[in-house]
Amino acid sequence: MTTPPTQLFVDGAYRDGAANRRTPLINPATEHPFANVAAAELPDVEAAVQSAHRAWESGWRDMAPGKRTEILFNVARLLRENLERIAQLEMLQIGKPIADARDEAGLGARVFEYYAGGITRFYGQTIPVSRGGFDFTLRQPMGVVAAVVPWNFPFPIACWKAAPALAAGNCVILKPASLSPLTALALGEIAHAAGLPPGVLQVLPGSGSSIGDALVTHPLIRKVSFTGSTEIGRRIMELASRDLKRVSLELGGKSPNIVFADADWKRAAETSPMSVFANTGQDCCARSRMFVEKSVYERFVETFVEATRKLVIGDPTSPSTQLGPLVSAGQRSTVEEFLGDARKQGSRFACGGSRPSGRGYYLEPAVLLDVAKGDRCWREEIFGPVVCITPFEDEGEMLREVNASPYGLSGSVWTNDLRRALRVSRLVQSGVLSVNSHSSVHVEAPFGGFKTSGLGRDLGMTAMEGYTELKNVYVAE
Ligand code: NAP
Ligand code: MG
Repeated sequence: MTTPPTQLFVDGAYRDGAANRRTPLINPATEHPFANVAAAELPDVEAAVQSAHRAWESGWRDMAPGKRTEILFNVARLLRENLERIAQLEMLQIGKPIADARDEAGLGARVFEYYAGGITRFYGQTIPVSRGGFDFTLRQPMGVVAAVVPWNFPFPIACWKAAPALAAGNCVILKPASLSPLTALALGEIAHAAGLPPGVLQVLPGSGSSIGDALVTHPLIRKVSFTGSTEIGRRIMELASRDLKRVSLELGGKSPNIVFADADWKRAAETSPMSVFANTGQDCCARSRMFVEKSVYERFVETFVEATRKLVIGDPTSPSTQLGPLVSAGQRSTVEEFLGDARKQGSRFACGGSRPSGRGYYLEPAVLLDVAKGDRCWREEIFGPVVCITPFEDEGEMLREVNASPYGLSGSVWTNDLRRALRVSRLVQSGVLSVNSHSSVHVEAPFGGFKTSGLGRDLGMTAMEGYTELKNVYVAE
C-alpha cells in the first residue's frame, strides 16, 4: 500500500499540528480506518499565512516569469512521475475507481502544464487614452490566496486552483476537505521537490468548522477560492464582504440533460447514465434532471435503465470498476433520506436505490420516474447516484422548468437540429453546457456557475485573471 502522508505541509516541510489533533481516515470501500492525519488549528493557520507572506514578498512575487515557468513545468513533470502514487492515495481516501483516479492525476499534471505555459502569454494592454501620454495595464498578483477544496475531485480541483494562482505570482494555502487530505499533501510535497520555494504552496488539512473562518478573515489572505456546498460558499462570501476580500465560488448544481426526439437519442440513453452516476453521483455537474421529448420517452427510459444495470459497481482497485462507494457512511445516509422521501411521495423506482450486500458505502444507482416538480429529489442537489427522468412536449415549457432551479452550473442538450441547438444553448441558464456530449470540464475553457452555482470561473485563462488585480498606469509625456 502507498504510505499516506500524515502531517501538515508548512513552510516547505512536513510537520505536526500545534495542537497535535488527528483525523482518522476510513477507506469507504472497506470501512477500515487506515491513517490518522494531523488537523491544523489556529496557530498553524497563522504560521502558514506568515510563511506564505514572507515567501511572496521575498521572491515569488518578483521572480522572472521564465523562472516561474520552469518551476511549474517541473511540478507537472514530477506529478506525472508520481501519477500512480497520487491515484492510489485518491482511491484509498474516497473510494474513487482506480481508472478515474489515474485520469484525474493526469488532469492535475495537465493543468500545471497549461498554466506554466500561460505565464508568458498572459499580459495587459496599452490604451490610447484621449489626453495623450502612455497608458498601460498590469495584471498583478494579489498575495496570499486560500484555496478551500472538496472531497469529490480532490486532486484535480486542488491543481486547478493552485496552478493558476501560482502562475499569476501568488502564494497558496490549500485546505483540503477533512475526508481527502492525502493527495493535496502529496501535491504540496511534490511541488516543493520540483523547486517551489518554501511557503509558496502549503497544505493545511483540518476541519473547515475550526479553521475555515480564520482563513477567510485573515487580513493577509487576499482571496478565497472555494469549491463545495452552496451553504459554506454563502458563509465565505458573507465573511469576506467585511473587507471586500476577493472570492470565487464553485458550488452545487442540479444540472439538466435535455434530449430532443430528433437527436441520436439511443446514444444519449446509452451514455447518459455516466453523466449522472460517474463518481457515484458525487459531482457538481451531475446531469441529475433528465428531460426527454415525449415521443421517445418510453424507449429512452428502457435503454437508459438497461445501460444503468450494466454499470460495473464494486472494488475501486479493479481497473474495470466504473462506480465505487459513496465517500462516507454519512453521505450514503443523506442520499438514502432523499430516496426515502421519493418513496413516500410515490415516485417510481425504475431500478436501484438499495445497498448491495457486503462492506463499503455502496448504493445501487437509482432511476426515478414520476417525480413531482415540487419534490426534494427534483429540486435539491442529492450528490449521490440518483437521477429523475421526466417527459416534455413543449420546448418553452421545458426550458422554464430547467431554469426554475436556483442552480445553474452545467447541462447537456441532445439534438441534431443546429438552430435548436444554438437557441437552447443560449436559453439554458448555466455557466457550462454541452451539445451532444456530457463533458463539462476543459482545462482551456472557463468553468463555473450562474445563480447559486457560484461566482467567478475556474480553468482557462479566465481563472488566471481571477488571481490578479488589474492596475492601470498612466505616464505623462
Ligand atoms: P462543504 O462543507 O461545503 O465542504 C467543502 C470544503 O469546505 C471542505 O474543505 C470543508 O472542510 C470546507 N469547509 C467546511 N466548513 C467551512 C467553513 N465554515 N469555512 C471554510 N471552509 C469550510 O461540503 P460537504 O459538507 O463536504 O458536503 C455537503 C454537500 O455539499 C454535498 O452533499 C454536496 O451537495 C455539496 N458539495 C458540493 C461540491 C461541489 O463540487 N460543488 C463538493 C462537495 C460537496 P471540511 O471537510 O473539514 O468540513
Ligand atoms: Mg460541510
